[in-house]
Amino acid sequence: LVDNNETVISVNQLSTHYGERLILDQLDFSVRRGEIMVIMGASGSGKSTLLRTMLGLNRPTNGEVNILGTNVSKAKQNELYRLRRQIGVAFQGGALFGNLSLIDNVQLPLKEHTNLDENTIRIMSRMKLDMMNLSGFDSLMPSELSGGMVKRAALARAVVMDPHLLFFDEPSAGLDPVVAAELDEHILELKKAMDMTIVVVTHELDSALRIADRLTVLDQGKMVICGTVDEV
Ligand code: ATP
Ligand code: MG
Repeated sequence: LVDNNETVISVNQLSTHYGERLILDQLDFSVRRGEIMVIMGASGSGKSTLLRTMLGLNRPTNGEVNILGTNVSKAKQNELYRLRRQIGVAFQGGALFGNLSLIDNVQLPLKEHTNLDENTIRIMSRMKLDMMNLSGFDSLMPSELSGGMVKRAALARAVVMDPHLLFFDEPSAGLDPVVAAELDEHILELKKAMDMTIVVVTHELDSALRIADRLTVLDQGKMVICGTVDEV
């Protein structure tokens, strides 16, 4: 049963400190099922901290985060682990392991995998990571990949578990505009084909406008803009 108005993420009065320093200041927003929420803001404005806090990796000093019905701020460790299995994450600078083949990097989150797991192959071909014949594909190493492929591999790895939610920090960092636009197409396709709710952090306004249903702009930990793309 798909309820398209279902609220998947709700953040209420959320504040976080590092030591004495206020990093996130009373944030309020929600994201519905199947939406792409884009978070923008200058370097140091708190974007990655917000993602980490939403995953329960930072404890807020005020307010709460609810994701898929779990109160992340109050959840016990085992509840957090269960929730995190529903969330695919590609962190900023989340590198591939240089000593693992491309396919082993992508299927790393799977506990057990055969050399050519069908779902992994499907996702990799969706991400256009399968242009080689299968044996080459199997032995291709990260050092042989273009910048765009590295990002697509990070995206593929984040979704091999078929998560309900995807968090992606700076997908287009370091990519030229054409390759960045291609990556946006992949993100849009994931939303459609895999019915995912997605949170993307980016510096690129062009990219934000291409993919966002909702846009939030942080400035020194405060939300200065927030709303659907039609509203803002
Ligand atoms: P960027 O665009 O450069 O990735 P950001 O918006 O993701 O920046 P954050 O990484 O969330 O910013 O950092 C917000 C602020 O918190 C920065 O001033 C940063 O220096 C500080 N900060 C981040 N992580 C820590 C930490 N573990 N301990 C102390 N301060 C931190
Ligand atoms: Mg960051």
